Amino acid sequence: MKHLAEYSDPAAIRALAAEIARVSKRPARIMEVCGGQTHAILRHGLDTLLPPHVRFLHGPGCPVCVTPATYLNHAIAIARRPDAIVTTFGDLLRVPSESSGDLFAAKARGGDVRMVTSPLQALAFARENPAKHVVHLAIGFETTAPANAMLALLAKERGLTNVSLLVSQFLVPPILRAICAEPATAPDAFLAAGHVCAVAGATPYAALARELGRPIAIAGFEPADILLGVLEVLKLFEAGRAEMANAYPRVVHPHGNPAAQHTIAAVFEVADREWRGLGVVPQSGLVLRPEFAAQDAALRFPQKYSSCNYYTFSACPAAAVLLGKLRPPDCPHFGTACTPDHPLGAPMVSPEGPCAAFYLHRPTPTP
Ligand code: SF4
Repeated sequence: MKHLAEYSDPAAIRALAAEIARVSKRPARIMEVCGGQTHAILRHGLDTLLPPHVRFLHGPGCPVCVTPATYLNHAIAIARRPDAIVTTFGDLLRVPSESSGDLFAAKARGGDVRMVTSPLQALAFARENPAKHVVHLAIGFETTAPANAMLALLAKERGLTNVSLLVSQFLVPPILRAICAEPATAPDAFLAAGHVCAVAGATPYAALARELGRPIAIAGFEPADILLGVLEVLKLFEAGRAEMANAYPRVVHPHGNPAAQHTIAAVFEVADREWRGLGVVPQSGLVLRPEFAAQDAALRFPQKYSSCNYYTFSACPAAAVLLGKLRPPDCPHFGTACTPDHPLGAPMVSPEGPCAAFYLHRPTPTP
């Protein structure tokens, strides 16, 4: 295939589905760990093309869904300050915090919260507003880390003292280890997100597959990309091989993007990180290095809060959804008390959330 449209070609999709049916002999649960892939699977009905004994589990691949409520409390507290400007991607605006509403409500009450499409826009706001401090909400997986790191680097390089980052960066491999630590509910195989691996490289996922004792296929986001990933991971699964297959080689190279990795390593270091609903996962996130303390909004605007599990006192069972233990349509609130207009939890808010994906693309529950 040479052109993007070919990755949605019905004949190619049918051929891949037939090959999957031919190869697959035993029950398999495949977890994708990317909100973009979850939406593509449901939008294109790819799950309905699989043999009945092969199922997708939708993992914690939505960065907004796993950003802890305590982080949002902190962001909202900063947004309420008259001397602050908060910049964020739009999908974080309506995510419920622990007790302070959401960023959209803070903006409605007069907070200067600005939606951006690049973290680097914070630099211009800082230059234009020297009497204010600009805080960028730096969340996401390996995919957003390079641009967030670049913001810290450029702020330091240009001597801008009124811009900083409130960081909640996550790493994918540690959460896969945490999921596999519960063998009863762990999937049989993983689809790894192509954009994450484009940064990190394919090679680390080969070692990870061996460590987890489960095959991993790196997959892209078009229908044929995802089915190709399913085919490759099922071939490994049927052969009993805990190995990695790169089903997205047009984007993912063995060693990833060295320039992006270098930028991340220059600014961030690995640390424990709290995941919303899942608790603290050891060495699963990135924090700013001590030499970037001046760019750390958590130090500039310290907030006393203890780690709390929003979902233990909320009606939203999102932790179970994010671990693949509960399908969104099986949540008692799905489509009734919880809708995109009135979300009870982040998975219904974010464009990458699994509950929003089912609501948008599968409003009538399937068995
Ligand atoms: S449907 Fe709503 S309440 Fe249920 S898990 Fe999803 S976000 Fe939470």
